[in-house]
Amino acid sequence: MLPDRLSRLMQLLARLPGVGEKTAQRFALHLVSEGGELASDLGVELGTLAEAVRPCEHCGNIAEVDPAGRSVCNVCRDTRRDSSVLCVVARVQDLLAIEKSGAMRGRYFVLGRLLSPLDGIGPEELPLDRLLALVRQRGVTEVIVATPPSVDGEATALLLARELGPSAARVSRIASGVPHGGDLEFADQITLGRAIDGRRNIDG
Ligand SMILES: [Zn+2]
Repeated sequence: MLPDRLSRLMQLLARLPGVGEKTAQRFALHLVSEGGELASDLGVELGTLAEAVRPCEHCGNIAEVDPAGRSVCNVCRDTRRDSSVLCVVARVQDLLAIEKSGAMRGRYFVLGRLLSPLDGIGPEELPLDRLLALVRQRGVTEVIVATPPSVDGEATALLLARELGPSAARVSRIASGVPHGGDLEFADQITLGRAIDGRRNIDG
């Protein structure tokens, strides 16, 4: 029915999170029928995206690559941040949600994934060495674990408390203001702010 190029575009669009077959078709048809300029602008942006934007070399947040080829995010560049406090999150989306709440004046570390024995993700799959190195290098005195309130999120928090135990940093966990199994990304700013303010120490 459809030209091959369009089918291919639809298949690619449908791989985006939250985009089903129908939405992919709507996007693709819009791009070819009305969005000529949009299609070429998107093409330019997407074509250079992987080179221009990369994970921050310190914390894993999204960062723009500078002319020297370094990728350091805005939070890591901000000298007014409190380097003694490090907030550990699972994903960049969680970092963005916490930033929006305004409750965090320290820095971040993005794990990229959670400990999940059922899915075969063990401690060795997590960037624990990088995290420990950062804690020591920056003289971090408190690590706030802001993993989601799920089975995997709790298991990850306990693992981090154990691993960071000998590093002399206090390890705390955000309070359970966010519903169990909930996504930090979808928690409102006040709830997230309260969860951070109400954090409790966890013992490794
Ligand atoms: Zn960074």
